[in-house]
This record gives sequence, structure tokens and C-alpha cells, in this order.
Amino acid sequence: MKYKDNSKTHEHLENIKKLPTLGEIYNYVNSVFPTWMIGFYDNYCPNYTYFNQNWENICKQNNTTKKQILIVDDMIFDDNHTFIRTISEIFTRLGFCVRSKQEFILCEKCYKSVLPCKTLYDVIKIKEDLTIPNNWSNICANCI
Ligand SMILES: [Zn+2]
Repeated sequence: MKYKDNSKTHEHLENIKKLPTLGEIYNYVNSVFPTWMIGFYDNYCPNYTYFNQNWENICKQNNTTKKQILIVDDMIFDDNHTFIRTISEIFTRLGFCVRSKQEFILCEKCYKSVLPCKTLYDVIKIKEDLTIPNNWSNICANCI
């Protein structure tokens, strides 16, 4: 419920469309929902080819290159959350990978690489043809 649309959402989105730089969009979003964007990180743990390739494919579709992973507090993309949904779309189009902190964690050693949480790992592990490590860890491949 924290990031639900309200009577000002439409106005906010109209204002954001006019902003020329990502820095200004970032500041605007922070002024609307100061706790939503948690942090920007450079990469996934290199052992998760699956996530990296997925990100690259989305960037190709948007004619851009990989920028950073944006971890956000929550991702509810229904019709009551058009603000955060639109912001996620804007960042995605520019090459960012927007992920929820419910599903992704930072490496416990370097606090730089992004890893799936254990629950998400278990979910994707049962799918076939996914290139992910055989075992889950909260430490990235760079730090082992
Ligand atoms: Zn690490």
C-alpha cells in the first residue's frame, strides 16, 4: 500500500515526462516516494548467466546498453501502482534492471554483486535450461 497511486499521480507523471535528465527523474521520484529506490549496483554475480543474459536481451530490445541494477523496496505493478510501474519502465528502457529487495540481495562480502534470494533461487532452480549455480549462496562468485 506504501507506493499506491493517489490524486497527484497523474500530475507527477506529466511532470516527469518533461524532465530532461535521469538525475532529475531520480530526484523527482525520491521526492514522491523517498524509500522506494534503495540502491544502484553494477552487476549480478557472474555465475548467474541467466540474469545477465535476460538483462542484455531487454537492453537490446530497447536499443540501449546495460547500465545498473536498481533495487527497489517493492514491485507491485497493478493498476493502483501506475507511478512506480511507469518509473520502472522508464529506467528499464534506459538500460537499468529494476528488481525488488524481496527477491534480490547483495553479496554479504562485497555488497556490490546482486544475487537472488534463496526463495527466488529455489523457484528458478526447478525450471529447465537456466544457467544458474548448483547451490545457492549469499556470497558472489567474485568473493569465493
Ligand atoms: Zn561479492
